[in-house]
Amino acid sequence: MRALMVVLATVTLVGRASAQRAASLSPTVREVVSVDAPVVALTHVRVIDGTGGPIANDQTVVIANGRIQAVGRTGAVQVPGAARVLDLSGHTVFPGFVGMHDHIVYETTNRIVSLGFSAPRLYFASGVTTIKTTGAADPYGEINIKREIDQGRSPGPRMHLAGPHITGGRPWDLGNPGNRVLWMRHVSTPEEARRVVDYWADEGATFFKVYTDISRRELAAVIDQAHKRGLKVSGHLCSVTFREAVALGIDLLEHGLTANTDYHPRKVPDVCPPDRAAGLAELDLTSEAVKATFRDMMAKGVGMTSNLAGAELAANLAPMDERVVVALSPETLAEALAARANIAATQAEARQLFKQRVRYEMEFVKAGGLLMGASDPNGLNLPGFGDQREFELLVQAGLTPAQVVQIMSANGAKVLGVLDSLGTVTQGKLADLIVIQGDPATNPADIKRITIVFKDGVGYDSAKLIASVRGLVGVR
Ligand SMILES: [Zn+2]
Repeated sequence: MRALMVVLATVTLVGRASAQRAASLSPTVREVVSVDAPVVALTHVRVIDGTGGPIANDQTVVIANGRIQAVGRTGAVQVPGAARVLDLSGHTVFPGFVGMHDHIVYETTNRIVSLGFSAPRLYFASGVTTIKTTGAADPYGEINIKREIDQGRSPGPRMHLAGPHITGGRPWDLGNPGNRVLWMRHVSTPEEARRVVDYWADEGATFFKVYTDISRRELAAVIDQAHKRGLKVSGHLCSVTFREAVALGIDLLEHGLTANTDYHPRKVPDVCPPDRAAGLAELDLTSEAVKATFRDMMAKGVGMTSNLAGAELAANLAPMDERVVVALSPETLAEALAARANIAATQAEARQLFKQRVRYEMEFVKAGGLLMGASDPNGLNLPGFGDQREFELLVQAGLTPAQVVQIMSANGAKVLGVLDSLGTVTQGKLADLIVIQGDPATNPADIKRITIVFKDGVGYDSAKLIASVRGLVGVR
């Protein structure tokens, strides 16, 4: 029986490896392919492999049939005679990023748009080769996009779907154009919660997302039903605290400090306090209360998603990225800039909260916690560009570049259950790789200088992908 299983596993791996050779891709996808050969050798590259290990200089990475066939010192690694050799002196190779809170839905003050065309292209162009959508406004759109990408008809990352957000309460204030809870699923009994999980599990969701107004009773039902189906649950919480959710068996916590009501001075069970950030600006991040949260999370293996690019933007600390100006539709850009101008009034408070949020994540990593990266796009924080900014912010916060690459790739892959097949630059894994001109380890901003993104060993032209969405972000 075991021998048969091994044979079957081998057959599956081979089948998958050859599933997306460029020849089988649609003309639309081939338009953005820049490297297409059965065997490719990237020579003289600096490799940060995603394991957290040391940076390796002058490496050669051999890609064959969609997989990493060899990695090692240039000259010591044998390059097959048939290989297409790319001399990439001065370049760095990372594993493809795994964006753990990477929506297709995009919000500004007055609009909620499903970016079915531009978001997958921007994630992919930015080196994010796998995303977890973490809540959809257009769940069927996402199911269809995933299918188009997987079948080679549209360029984009591997997608792990969440279905719609699941929350409690009711969709208040229908007149508010920025009403984000209007498109969520509001459950009010455990039976209803189980039914919703079953429905979306049947439709293809694999990692559910609960939102700020769910109560403990319904959350417990969501988690139990998802686990029965072998699926996972993450939360952007408020009504339920981190420690409560961990005790109920949640798999992942989104957003870090500002979504955690463990420290709220007047917390009432099952209620999201209107002043949810009360006390956070002064919270002692080395206190016993914080340690208790981290201890609980680690005891149950629960990780935390960072999305500092969005937090930085909310504090009006983000530098302007010229690529954003070009990618946004003029109307959306005007709206996002106006929103930014409005932040000025609360800036001092927001800045302090941003600092605290960064420190909370640093304490979590120091304690041994599993942190992962994302962009959670909104306003001037665009799909993919936000993941790159996250890389920069985590390096600036004091983590080593090797640690940050691990956070952005392997940690997410681990939580998605795909670390055995991707997430690090390791022999035998799928060739999902980012080629960067420059050295992001010494100059983090170089992360924006991606030239080629490999998925399944096919190389895609990052610049062409970005150019293809010019003026469209905020529209489609
Ligand atoms: Zn979100």
